[in-house]
Amino acid sequence: MTSATDRIQNLLTDLRIPQIDFNTVFKNQNDLTPLEAVERFLQEYQRIKIEKQNLIRRKRAALPAEKTLQSFDFGFQKSVSKEQMLRLSDMTWVDQAYNICFLGPPGVGKTHLALALAVRGLDLGYTVAFETLDNLIMLLKTLEISKSSSRRMKFLRKADLVIIDEVGFMPLTPTEANLFFGFVSGMSEKTSLIITSNKGFDEWADFLGDATITTAILDRLIHHCEIINMTGNSYRLEHHRSITD
Ligand code: ADP
Ligand code: MG
Repeated sequence: MTSATDRIQNLLTDLRIPQIDFNTVFKNQNDLTPLEAVERFLQEYQRIKIEKQNLIRRKRAALPAEKTLQSFDFGFQKSVSKEQMLRLSDMTWVDQAYNICFLGPPGVGKTHLALALAVRGLDLGYTVAFETLDNLIMLLKTLEISKSSSRRMKFLRKADLVIIDEVGFMPLTPTEANLFFGFVSGMSEKTSLIITSNKGFDEWADFLGDATITTAILDRLIHHCEIINMTGNSYRLEHHRSITD
């Protein structure tokens, strides 16, 4: 004779419902009606399911690190205000498919702030994806021949917010610049982009290689966009630690 607990656990397995610890779920709940007990069980099932989906969403976002606004030293980086970042961290701009561009020299905290907003987005339930421009171009080039690239691109196209990091580090070929244009254009008014770039917009033609395509990309990007120009010294250089410190 199997016990009721064993039979229930077998049913959960058959129905692909995660194992539930009934002793904890029904602790001190002896006077529940049958319907209330079912409700309590379904609530726990829903909680476990949402927790799992959140974990999957976080993993798929592929953030290289989890940063926060709390850990950002606004005293060191004075060209962006804490108030402005706190306002943006309500994430309502994602619902309107607005973009954000962080522009400035290396080490001033562009990627940090982009990641802090990405984490906020994930916490609030948005679908987020992170790519460097290099990797995005690789995905776009291999879309037709690689299942994993086409899967990732599908995910990017359906995301609420995509972060494209390190735009401008490497010059693009004309084909690559066209692929980037196609991507930005396809996303515009649908998906929010956060772009980080070490080049000001007036220098974008240098790495995109062509004035017409540069205008076309910037036109789509800037239409609904918060542009955050960051200046100052590199946090990395000023806070570097040597092995013997
Ligand atoms: P960028 O993308 O502008 O090159 P990062 O955001 O990658 O710079 O910053 C480099 C490193 O310094 C990261 O580890 C980041 O967390 C840290 N950092 C940069 N600016 C600040 C700041 N104002 N307060 C705290 N950490 C910072
Ligand atoms: Mg960076």
